[in-house]
Amino acid sequence: MLEKNREFDIEGVIEEFEALTKEAGRVQRETLRRILEENGQAEYLQNLGLGGRTDPETFKACVPLVTHKDLEPYIKRIADGDASPILTGKPVTSISLSSGTTQGKRKLLLFNEELVHSTMQIYRLSFALRNREFPIRNGKALQFIYSSKQLKTKGDLIAATATTNVYRSEQFKSTMKDIQSQCCSPDAVIFGSDFNQSLYCHLLCGLIYSNEVQFISSTFAHSIVHAFRTFEQVWEDLCTDVREGVLSSRITVPSIRESVSRLLSPNPDLADTIYKKCVGLSNWYGVIPELWPNAKYVYGIMTGSMEPYLKKLRHYAGNLPLISAEYGSSEGWIGTSVDPRLPPESTTFAVLPDIGYFEFIPLRENPRVQELERSASTIHYAESEPVSLTEVRVGEEYEIIITNFAGLYRYRLGDVVKVAGFHNSTPKLKFICRRGLLLTVNIDKNTEKDLQLSVEEATKLLAAEKLELVDFTSYVDMSTDPGHYVIFWELNADASDDVLHSCCDCLDRAFVDAGYVSSRKVQAIGALELRVVERGTFQKILDHYLCLGAAVSQFKTPRCVGTSNSEVLQILCTNATKSYFSTAYG
Ligand code: AMP
Repeated sequence: MLEKNREFDIEGVIEEFEALTKEAGRVQRETLRRILEENGQAEYLQNLGLGGRTDPETFKACVPLVTHKDLEPYIKRIADGDASPILTGKPVTSISLSSGTTQGKRKLLLFNEELVHSTMQIYRLSFALRNREFPIRNGKALQFIYSSKQLKTKGDLIAATATTNVYRSEQFKSTMKDIQSQCCSPDAVIFGSDFNQSLYCHLLCGLIYSNEVQFISSTFAHSIVHAFRTFEQVWEDLCTDVREGVLSSRITVPSIRESVSRLLSPNPDLADTIYKKCVGLSNWYGVIPELWPNAKYVYGIMTGSMEPYLKKLRHYAGNLPLISAEYGSSEGWIGTSVDPRLPPESTTFAVLPDIGYFEFIPLRENPRVQELERSASTIHYAESEPVSLTEVRVGEEYEIIITNFAGLYRYRLGDVVKVAGFHNSTPKLKFICRRGLLLTVNIDKNTEKDLQLSVEEATKLLAAEKLELVDFTSYVDMSTDPGHYVIFWELNADASDDVLHSCCDCLDRAFVDAGYVSSRKVQAIGALELRVVERGTFQKILDHYLCLGAAVSQFKTPRCVGTSNSEVLQILCTNATKSYFSTAYG
């Protein structure tokens, strides 16, 4: 059974959450008051004429809605060394670099103690909610987590991904201990300078502690799938290391070598067990529960752009439940799942009313706006006045606006969510997509979600042939007249031309957006093109982002590659081996 921990009272955490969500409206006003009081000295707020007032009405009237672009000059000054209170009252301890994998460009954001605090708060709550349904013993977690490169800004602040800033914080380790989630691998592995070596060692440490591992996790589910695809390649080497107690010569980073070698001693019995289990598996189905017999679940962000990896993850996880992790971003946290038993496809996130102040821009599909305003932030939807957290309506879609303790005031996050219901008086949000990611040639508008659904439909044809889609992305080719959609696919094995032709037609037909269908019918959009890329192409894309300083922990395959992202486009185009054009519209 669970050991009661002095510092961490699971029931207490849940009770507090229940109390806060019962009074979400009051808690939101109170949170806004605290944010504005604690940061009242900040130049940005001083200039807006709030005059010390902290009520939502004045706040809404005085403070403009902003995007990251509006804040860039302020953040740059801070990164360059201006230590005066610019956006926050308290000092900025480091800079976070967003992954840049969704929109191509890395954003600079502020990181401070408040973000560490809210991260620990949501980790503890999520654990408490999860543990109520799936209790674990004290043990370890096989966590595929990786830090990014840590750079120094002109003003001598450390700049790294938000996850890296969290891993570096002192509270991270103690919280992980409190929530029984201590990583199998030593710090040197998490902070290693070579991703592939870190991955190998995470797997090795996981095997060394195989009986103690209580769950398997990563920030985004993609990293778990990637880890086990790698495991399929290196498992025999891992067995050898365990058998002989000597770390493979592929590990050359001294700090990783030294710390992992210390954990190794010859263990032929364990090596035999692993070996036998691996050879006994059919196509690696259920490898996770087989090798980690005490694991209770697999945990990570599995929603949104991670959904395409679920099939493979379920294959590796066998009968183990998949539990969706929290909803947040480098900018700040938003919510967590209160129903951990729900499959990732149905997961919703209850907003924590004291973690920030939230507003929601109601979005309605409006074809006229589509034609009139074609900027990335307004396309596809008609917007109305923002509403508060407790004013949102079930079934409606919104863009989230964040105000938090890390220097963001009425910041448009760019994510589209749908209100699925309420937990007490706080809404439960379903993540829909990022707003800016869009395939469009003329009057058509297809979001990341539309692309995902179309790909899901077409991959059913692959499944019938026992083929697997490793990863995918898309591009709008306007160099042809008319322009057309290009979908890039990496497959695990060769497929016949017939199958790929059918997949291509299916992809084209599965985009049901009225603008797309009508344009295709009159050939105002050209035939959809499916380009198959060589195996390993998406690994090259990942490597490309790692070279730019991104971290695997926050990596999300870009689902739509813009022309400005020329390097990724070049990787895709030079690795394309076959191309098919749809005949779905004659
Ligand atoms: P990053 O730029 O790496 O901070 O990524 C943050 C973005 O990842 C968010 O704005 C979302 O678009 C996406 N994201 C984060 N958590 C989730 C989640 N639980 N479900 C779906 N998408 C998520």
